[in-house]
Amino acid sequence: MIDPASLKLPILAASVATLWLAESLAPHFAAFVRDMRARRRHALRNAGLGLMNGLLGVALLGALIAGSVALADAYQVGLLRAAPLPEWAKAIAALLLFDCWMYWWHRINHVVPFLWRFHRVHHSDPRMDVTTALRFHPGEIVLSTAARLLVVNLIGMDLRCLALYELIALPIVAFHHSNIAMPRRADSAIRWLVVTPWMHWVHHSTERAETNSNYSSVLSLWDRLFGSYRFRPDPDAIRFGLDEFPDETRHQGVAGMLKTPTD
Ligand SMILES: [Zn+2]
Ligand SMILES: [Zn+2]
Repeated sequence: MIDPASLKLPILAASVATLWLAESLAPHFAAFVRDMRARRRHALRNAGLGLMNGLLGVALLGALIAGSVALADAYQVGLLRAAPLPEWAKAIAALLLFDCWMYWWHRINHVVPFLWRFHRVHHSDPRMDVTTALRFHPGEIVLSTAARLLVVNLIGMDLRCLALYELIALPIVAFHHSNIAMPRRADSAIRWLVVTPWMHWVHHSTERAETNSNYSSVLSLWDRLFGSYRFRPDPDAIRFGLDEFPDETRHQGVAGMLKTPTD
């Protein structure tokens, strides 16, 4: 049987490449793709951060998670390991609980000032395309992995299930950051199940009330359930980025993004 973890990189690369091509052919925000030089520079900077995070994950964080799950398995720790359920039901429960955790972790990142210092790197992007999905500060990746160590083992999720979650989440996260032109009705239909570009664009608005909404990663259900769902029918009027960084150039290079938490 194929190990889902081995498919992570190919799935991510295929998702980003496909969406990049789709954005090139049919962009929602046409101005973002017109200036090819600016578009390429923006993509390379975001991809630079993504590459750093990928290396960090492979070199350190993956091994930490694997070690902790092996330990939890040996001692049969975790909610679902002890549950009298068939394996398929445990897997579905683990995927749902973990997606719910991703919602709350994201929401906590907007509330706790220390965490926001790192997470605002993702929000300081003044334009949105599929590469924004790669733009996270390595500090946020370390912090989210530390929290994940705890949650994965509290749930009693095994490594295959965690890798399966990532395989499902990666294309959806790439999709909802992308700049593809979607018919309004298609976006609306898909949005009943998963987070779409129209929904996530609101989360990247400079308006604080909009930034603090639409936290879901995969299922849109969590925002509806926990009262943070927000929609606006005029995505073209949304300004992306952060008002706390009025200088748009200072925090856009790789060095500037890395220094953002201390600014
Ligand atoms: Zn956010
Ligand atoms: Zn985002």
